[in-house]
Amino acid sequence: MGEREAEEKFPFDINPMYEGERVRKAGLYAELGGQNKPGFELVLFEPDPEQIKDGEVSLIGPDLEEMEEGGNYAYAMIYRVCGELIEKDLEAVIERRNHEYQGYIQGYMHLNQRAEIWVRISKEAVNKGLKSLKQIGRATIMLFKAELPFIEKMEATYITDGEEVAKRLEEADRIYEARDVKTRGLHDEDVDEFYQCTLCQSFAPTNVCVVSPDRIALCGAMSWFDSRAAARIDPEGPNAPIQKGECIDPIGGEYTGVNEAAVRLSSGEYDSIKLHAFLEKPHTSCGCFEVAGFYIPEVGGIGWVHRGSKVADTPIGLPFSTVASSVGGGKQVKGFLGIGIQYFYSPKFIQYDGGWRRVVWMPSDLKERVAEAIPAEMTDKIATEKDVRNIGELREFLQKVDHPVVNGVIREVDGERITDGWAVAAEAAAAPPTVSEEEIPVQTESLTQVPIPMASGAADPIKITLKDADISIGKIIVKRK
Ligand code: SF4
Repeated sequence: MGEREAEEKFPFDINPMYEGERVRKAGLYAELGGQNKPGFELVLFEPDPEQIKDGEVSLIGPDLEEMEEGGNYAYAMIYRVCGELIEKDLEAVIERRNHEYQGYIQGYMHLNQRAEIWVRISKEAVNKGLKSLKQIGRATIMLFKAELPFIEKMEATYITDGEEVAKRLEEADRIYEARDVKTRGLHDEDVDEFYQCTLCQSFAPTNVCVVSPDRIALCGAMSWFDSRAAARIDPEGPNAPIQKGECIDPIGGEYTGVNEAAVRLSSGEYDSIKLHAFLEKPHTSCGCFEVAGFYIPEVGGIGWVHRGSKVADTPIGLPFSTVASSVGGGKQVKGFLGIGIQYFYSPKFIQYDGGWRRVVWMPSDLKERVAEAIPAEMTDKIATEKDVRNIGELREFLQKVDHPVVNGVIREVDGERITDGWAVAAEAAAAPPTVSEEEIPVQTESLTQVPIPMASGAADPIKITLKDADISIGKIIVKRK
């Protein structure tokens, strides 16, 4: 810790226990970045130590005292670092820690990463004496240097001027893109090790993040190269290597080493993960995913919605925030999946469940953004909010464009038919359900009033009646205690 940092007494507590602290609207002093203002965070490696003024924080734009209470401002945090052990691949790793360390600051809420950052500062923190973002910057640098001793010098530029943030964001986007492109030539079968990331276990304790060459971290901030660089410099840290072990399922991306890591990292909650599946043994999702996927049983396809989407509702009638709450929490949720945007470019993108042939809906801006990743024959078959507003319209659209889900999806990678199509599904749905003592299958179509019979011989028989319900459940298991 430098002399300046040792001397400074901050008007806020700094403690890991504040990680996950939320600043609600009622207690909000200022909002920075988020849905309505541009924002980003970026770490840049500087090879020449002389170019860095260690511990210095500069600010371009209005400081906290000049901001209107309750206002929303643009926000950029740019850090420059140097150190003998630092290499360029570590930029993204250090950058991802900004979320963790700023989370230690009481009254300062930091969410997301890269160009999606969303910061809230509480009135309480300002009332206690927080006057300047420079204080936040100096506390952050102090934390970085205490936790990552390989950082020898570090300086920060914070920007709240909207035009300046927008201008520098273009450059930041180019840097993010260059980092992402680097991994596209490397594949899971080319390496012996994947990497775990346990950073988000502080708020999602059973989360098992596995980063492989073909599957960037779901937060989008850690590629396989970034993770490798982190593991090299701190092998006992959050990005320790996972030996792949034996490949159990090359299409789903299931490996003995990953399964062992799943057991270890989730404290036994999960014992297997398919890295490239959506519906079977999916990867867990903590809450930092850039994009949330949701299965739409009425069409047998998958929709995607990204953080920051301006679309009010997906065709299933839910906005990103509600879909996200079904996906997150470090759970393995069948039918939902959190991913990083770059995973759309992976040749193994949910290949177990049909890859792009299974995708039926995306917001138009997301579709445009990943246009290069979408196979040409699928481009016009994926609906957006401009084509459909609800499930009924989605069904019509998919039929009109002859989407693969209508007549059954044939998996490209091995030619296997993995869905039967709507006609067969409708036939199956019309057949009377068979009910065993343990399992009660439920149709996935709209239900108006469905009495569910209980097992014969129950001492206290009960009847569950679903009225005016429009639900979709794969299976209900009823067990007597
Ligand atoms: S989402 Fe996963 S990879 Fe990203 S920081 Fe969290 S644990 Fe690490």
